[in-house]
Amino acid sequence: MAKDETRCFPIGSNILKENMYVDDALVSCDSVDAAVQARRDLIEILRSAGMQLDKWAANCPDILSGNHCASQEDRAFDKDLIVPTLGLRWTPATDEFSYTVPELSTITTVTKRAILSEVARIYDPTGWLAPVTVRAKMLLQHLWLQGHDWDQPTDHTTTELWLDFRRKLAALQTCRIPRWLGVNSKSSRMLHGFSDASERAYATAIYLVSQDASHLLTAKSKVAPIRSVSVPRLELCGATLLARLMQKVLQDINLTIASIHCWTDSQIVLAWLRAPPCTWKVFVANRVSEIHSLLPNAAWSHVASKHNPADVASRGCSPDQLQGNELWWRGPPWLLSSTSFATIEEPVISTQLERRIDRACFVSTEDDTIENILTRFSSLNRLYRVVTYCPRWKNCLASTKAQYTSTAITAKEITAARMNITRAVQVYHFREEIHRIYKGDDHYKSARLRRHHPYLDEEDLLRVGGRLTHSLLPYSERHPIVIPKTSHLARLLVLHAHEVTLHGGPQLVQSFLRRQWWILQAGSLIRQVIHSCVTCTRYQGRRLEQFMAPLP
Ligand SMILES: [Zn+2]
Repeated sequence: MAKDETRCFPIGSNILKENMYVDDALVSCDSVDAAVQARRDLIEILRSAGMQLDKWAANCPDILSGNHCASQEDRAFDKDLIVPTLGLRWTPATDEFSYTVPELSTITTVTKRAILSEVARIYDPTGWLAPVTVRAKMLLQHLWLQGHDWDQPTDHTTTELWLDFRRKLAALQTCRIPRWLGVNSKSSRMLHGFSDASERAYATAIYLVSQDASHLLTAKSKVAPIRSVSVPRLELCGATLLARLMQKVLQDINLTIASIHCWTDSQIVLAWLRAPPCTWKVFVANRVSEIHSLLPNAAWSHVASKHNPADVASRGCSPDQLQGNELWWRGPPWLLSSTSFATIEEPVISTQLERRIDRACFVSTEDDTIENILTRFSSLNRLYRVVTYCPRWKNCLASTKAQYTSTAITAKEITAARMNITRAVQVYHFREEIHRIYKGDDHYKSARLRRHHPYLDEEDLLRVGGRLTHSLLPYSERHPIVIPKTSHLARLLVLHAHEVTLHGGPQLVQSFLRRQWWILQAGSLIRQVIHSCVTCTRYQGRRLEQFMAPLP
């Protein structure tokens, strides 16, 4: 119905959508005229569905008088009338909320059960009594920590504390909280949230501030967890509680808010909030990131503890002290002078507390042999290029002198890389042979190399001796470098030769390789590589031919 009539009765439709509590509509308007209009809209919109509204009540008799006043039961509120509204009491004559404190029976023994039962009767949906209720919560937590049984009488100190608290509870009835927040639809408004933590509890309080008044909107308190948590962490929990409550207020409040300010008396929390969440350990990072995502536009600043109203709620106060606590009900006096806090220069603060430490761990294992490294490559060129960049990195680390003018690598660097790889492979596979040759042990004959008369050249590479020393062939062809068949380098060399010779057959690949390399028992390796070459397999494939039937 509210949806259907939005065009004809926008005010009435809005009230039906947002201000109905079961079968009661509770509406507040800026002026008498607006209230009369709202009443007229509401009557019309419900009449269209055949519903008649009655039992009107208002704190201004003018709203009920006039043409639309139809029912005998309509009345203005009496001076002394008190209306129970959602757990609170509302006095229409003065437009104030107050609390009912339930009648407390005389108790002979104080037990955990009795305390819990009486604490549960303090109904405080808005959190205005947070400083009082937090005292009761702390007392209960203390009893749990002591391991008290439900019906076990409490010790003398606790009994005295509770009886004193209980006696003073009646003072809460004198608390008067104005319903009207002192703002109309035109005034500029700000939300100020405060958070604080003590060792035993953390709390938050939110104020709506207009040009000439500030009012406590809502508050919340929680006791600190039983496991010990550091005070900075509790302060951060308080800030998170503030962000969550502020988000709730923003969703529910039907007003345009000019700006949001959040205050905490912990410099560490501010430092945590000013760095990216990933800087901190998990506990802090999670909460910092939640606060930022809940309140992306809020300004966080530092407030002195004596000006922090949330401090009242985190420490708690006795019921008789609450009514007179101006800091709690109005916030610090400087909230009203909107310029004084905006110009405060915040000192730049930093902290190392809870910073995430990145640990780099280097492990060297026996598996890091040259062969294991080589198997990570499937292309010879790529291997050469990667190995060429390694000394560059090393030189850059070692000194600032080695400056490379270009990122392109040179032929000289590639040659050096090839020599280094070859030497490493030879040392890995022919350690014993190289050692003997180095020592000049002519009598040592290795079974693998005996036929090739190996020797070490001036670059300490193992080459084939052979009988071509006096030939006119180039040096590398007369004395090719020895590479074992089992090395991954041999496979890469064969693969490369096969590609360079445009997928040449075994003989072509063999003769191409011999110009520089002598791979021991290369034949089988070459055949194996060519056999597994996808391109060759595809082009050498034979088509299926249809089997012809015999001629008639
Ligand atoms: Zn091929």
